[in-house]
Amino acid sequence: MIDEVERGVADARSAQLGEGVAQARSRIAAAARDAGRDPSEVTLLVVTKYFPAADVVRLIDLGEREFGESREPEASRKMVEVTTARCEHFSADMIGRVQRKKAGSVARWARRVHSVDSAPLIDALSGAATRARDAGHRDDRLGVLLQVSLDGDPDRGGLVEADLAAAADRVLAAPDALTLDGLMLIAPLGLDPGEAMRQMADIRAGFVERYPDALELSAGMSGDLESAIANGSTCVRVGTAILGTRPILSL
Ligand SMILES: *Cc1c(COP(=O)(O)O)cnc(C)c1O
Repeated sequence: MIDEVERGVADARSAQLGEGVAQARSRIAAAARDAGRDPSEVTLLVVTKYFPAADVVRLIDLGEREFGESREPEASRKMVEVTTARCEHFSADMIGRVQRKKAGSVARWARRVHSVDSAPLIDALSGAATRARDAGHRDDRLGVLLQVSLDGDPDRGGLVEADLAAAADRVLAAPDALTLDGLMLIAPLGLDPGEAMRQMADIRAGFVERYPDALELSAGMSGDLESAIANGSTCVRVGTAILGTRPILSL
């Protein structure tokens, strides 16, 4: 595994990933243009969950720098391998649900956590970020995006609009450990993605009025990035459209 990672290599897989990235970037650019936005306002976060460290290394060699992971301990292990293989700067965000007991390991590798949706998790991440910094695992604060739930479905996670301000204030109460970066949406299953993104845009407009520095909106995946960008997304999280169908095999 490590051999494969260190080789990095411009192989057939690399060509496939390069094509996926180019297609995703041209979709992002077209959607931004259609919305009258500058494509540089939208970050592409390449979601590498379930795929091996070697693919992350290939993507770094292709010029990608920002990645999303969603599962522990897969993500921690992978980030150690990638850091060993490539010392160039890259960053990875946690986009999946975080169990409180995993806050400590997530704070060692994640630039930001997109899926923050409870006061106990905010407190756990705040303590974990401080410990990770004291131990030299990170030199900056941990970014927080509050996950929004449009339908209140507890299985999908997220905070309903009425609970966002209390969570935001709790993040801001830990200024040495956390930064309040913005909001995140996973469109609910039962709702048309365009409608979901429009509802999200309304919620965000109110949120940004109250928290003018929390400008990030992480919304849009392989299937719905166009409507997300039309509704103000600043970060699309794209997996399948770049890496292909996720392997069943667990890493
Ligand atoms: C897996 C995942 C993605 C990527 O989804 P694709 O449909 O593969 O692009 C985006 N966001 C979250 C939270 C994910 O877990």
